[in-house]
Amino acid sequence: MIQRTLSIIKPDGVSRNLIGEVIKRIESAGLKIIAMKMIRMNKVQAKGFYQVHEGKPFYESLTDFMSSGPCVVMVLEGDNAIEKYRKLMGATDYRMAEEGTIRREFATDIEKNVVHGSDSPESAHFEIGYFFNQLEIINE
Ligand code: UDP
Ligand code: MG
Repeated sequence: MIQRTLSIIKPDGVSRNLIGEVIKRIESAGLKIIAMKMIRMNKVQAKGFYQVHEGKPFYESLTDFMSSGPCVVMVLEGDNAIEKYRKLMGATDYRMAEEGTIRREFATDIEKNVVHGSDSPESAHFEIGYFFNQLEIINE
């Protein structure tokens, strides 16, 4: 099934020059980038993006981190894109992530784990709409 998912290269990934590395893995996996931009979220915008985690112990620190520098946000499209990209990323906690995944190879911390990917069709719909309007997404 063709799906869309939202990918973010987080501020740690951008500042450590991992943009190309992440994009190479996305393209090699056969996922198409159908929208992309670099943005810098403020605290309020980061809190809105991560509103599902409001109240959790890591919410304040996470939203400080996500608003600490630029991110690259992308819409990816392809067969089973949501799960496929989650597999490329690896587990949230890089110490638990499988060998060869982005987080296992590059994350430095449970929070600073380089990438975000939507976890369901519902969250993908919300997250894509949070950053992109229809004119910014390639439909062909
Ligand atoms: N996070 C954290 N501590 C935790 C769990 C999560 O700092 O105990 C951060 C981490 O950056 C993670 C993000 O919060 O990527 C969102 O958490 P989620 O459980 O949605 O993980 P993900 O979907 O990114 O794998
Ligand atoms: Mg998540």
